[in-house]
Amino acid sequence: MNSRRLFLQKITAAVTLPLAPAFANAFDHSSIAWQGPILKVAIMGLGSYGTRVAEAMLASTKAKLTGVISGTPSKVKTWQAKYGIPEKNCYNYENFDQIKNNPDIDAVYIITPNGLHHSQTLRVAKAGKHVICEKPMALNAVEAQEMVTACKQANVKLLIGYRMHFEAKTLEVVRMRQAGEFGKPLFFQGLSGFRIGDPGQWRLSKKLAGGGAMMDIGIYSVNGARYMLGEEPIWVTAQETKTDPQKFKEGVDETIQFQLGFASGAIASCLSTYTMNNLDKFFLNGEKGFAELQPSTGYGPIQGRTHLGALTQPHVTHQTTQMDEMAEIILNNKKTIIPVDGEEGLKDMKIVDAIYLAANTSKRIDLKL
Ligand code: NDP
Repeated sequence: MNSRRLFLQKITAAVTLPLAPAFANAFDHSSIAWQGPILKVAIMGLGSYGTRVAEAMLASTKAKLTGVISGTPSKVKTWQAKYGIPEKNCYNYENFDQIKNNPDIDAVYIITPNGLHHSQTLRVAKAGKHVICEKPMALNAVEAQEMVTACKQANVKLLIGYRMHFEAKTLEVVRMRQAGEFGKPLFFQGLSGFRIGDPGQWRLSKKLAGGGAMMDIGIYSVNGARYMLGEEPIWVTAQETKTDPQKFKEGVDETIQFQLGFASGAIASCLSTYTMNNLDKFFLNGEKGFAELQPSTGYGPIQGRTHLGALTQPHVTHQTTQMDEMAEIILNNKKTIIPVDGEEGLKDMKIVDAIYLAANTSKRIDLKL
């Protein structure tokens, strides 16, 4: 019996596990010609991540870049030439409310500094267009709640740019957890960090970033703890360390360790930092097994293994899959395995607020999500 079980474990580890249909669909944006409607997207903020999204969208079958909103005319010219965007679909930060009269644009993807997301989302919603907003969706939960409410009132969808929610190896771990293959989840570890360069950049401005590493990279561990464990935290504790107060000014966090507690008894222990490279790892431990993703949230390929062996799902450019999936959510009300809506982003902002409060007060903060 034991050797048979061992044999079965070995062959299970050796073959690619077939995916349940719902999971397979989540990243199947294959070459089959798409006959359905196409989501027409304008990107707001033509910076480094906006550029990456635009390039990835070229391979999307269900979403197409049709417009831009930018404060830099020279970039607009370059993008017009590269993506064939007509003048009538180009806006700046002063006049983009006029987008409401433009049938070539269904949704605006906001990829500007964090501190601008709230006001820009409210304006896009008022113009009657769907909003895709980058993470962190806002500077705090109050702003995030206002964004959710504004989009609801305007009857437009609000999605947050959580690209990992569509990534194949991540979804396989979630499938295994839901199928009980790890047994009862007990522990999550999330390590999220990199060494940040130029001290003058907006990511180190309290006003534009809302904080430091936690807003930018630590939020991946916050979000990951929730989808890896499949539960919402009920308390938070946190400790902050600062080695360079010149670079990381008041309100801009350099390193925060935080712990999350869950009603089931599961716990999470995470690190968010702007001073250590190669920190991109998720680990999930359950009563019967484990999953490890490293890298876990970078642009990929994501690498991972479980107690059953290596994860072998193929790599697809994250933003290509994300845009195809978001087109289906917006145009066809598709329900995804891990949500990416405003409510999902709001939960993360409530946790981030609680982490800052816990770090500042050295108290355990209770949460109701
Ligand atoms: P960048 O600084 O590279 O680009 C931001 C762009 O926003 C600028 O190029 C500019 O575009 C526009 N902008 C408008 N106002 C300002 C301002 N006051 N200061 C600076 N830029 C301004 O940032 P990123 O592209 O790296 O990040 C943008 C957002 O995307 C952030 O919220 C970040 O957290 C998120 N992000 C998400 C990632 C993910 O994997 N999901 C990865 C990286 C970033 P223009 O000149 O066209 O006006």
